[in-house]
Amino acid sequence: MSVQTYRRPVQAIFLIISIILLGGIARYCPFIGVQQIAGAIGSGLIDEAFDAGTIRGFSRLTIVVGGFTLFVIVFGRVWCGWICPFGTILSAANALKLPVQERSPPRILQGYSFKYELLAVFIGATMIFGYPVFCQVCPVGALYRTAGFQTFDLAVIPGLTVVFISVLFVLIYHRRFWCKSICPLGALTAILDKVSAFRVLVDEDTCIECMVCQRECPMDILVIEDSIRRGHRTVPTGECFRCGRCIDVCPKDALSFSFKYG
Ligand code: SF4
Ligand code: SF4
Ligand code: SF4
Repeated sequence: MSVQTYRRPVQAIFLIISIILLGGIARYCPFIGVQQIAGAIGSGLIDEAFDAGTIRGFSRLTIVVGGFTLFVIVFGRVWCGWICPFGTILSAANALKLPVQERSPPRILQGYSFKYELLAVFIGATMIFGYPVFCQVCPVGALYRTAGFQTFDLAVIPGLTVVFISVLFVLIYHRRFWCKSICPLGALTAILDKVSAFRVLVDEDTCIECMVCQRECPMDILVIEDSIRRGHRTVPTGECFRCGRCIDVCPKDALSFSFKYG
């Protein structure tokens, strides 16, 4: 069975769970946790931040941020490829075969680096102002507050604007442009992902270098050029979110998930 046979139900389950939680999801969003820690460090209230909202003796922040960090260190960006609700919405939009124009974005937005700069800006702003600045424009939070049919709240307007812009970006530039170049949480997972042992393994003996896998990758990973052609057995970590699409399309079954470094 293809990887997508497993991945799509998992994505659907997490999307449904996050919609059911609605406003409550904010309490368990790892990026809010990271921002709360940054805000607490900035305002010198780190002890109070960790004491707030305990679950059976554990600080909620410890569980949310610690659990997220541990998960990404072990499983890499499976978070992005299988769990994140906004990633799932973008995947679903891609399945609609939208007429993406594949234009080149402005130079500053090309490649993978802009999201790391945004992450630094939002963390820095959060430390200065003492509250989670990214949440004010977060598309996921805005979608859930709107989907929950809660009393109309003007606070969702910036987030919904970002949803609109990100969909527009997708139509103009690239099917996962938001994830590849913009998302600060994606940048955080990409940093943690660097040490993950859960990777896409390439069987050098079986691969015929047809490059079908590279063309299929939604994150434009150079699956072969940056692995076996550089003497590595695995696809580079960081930007790969383990969606498994490359594994599914390989005509020689040369790709697989594996807990291996290299
Ligand atoms: S990059 Fe951001 S929006 Fe995309 S899947 Fe990852 S966390 Fe979600
Ligand atoms: S699709 Fe398979 S055979 Fe073709 S280049 Fe990729 S890993 Fe090699
Ligand atoms: S390299 Fe493969 S698993 Fe990684 S993002 Fe690309 S298609 Fe998905």
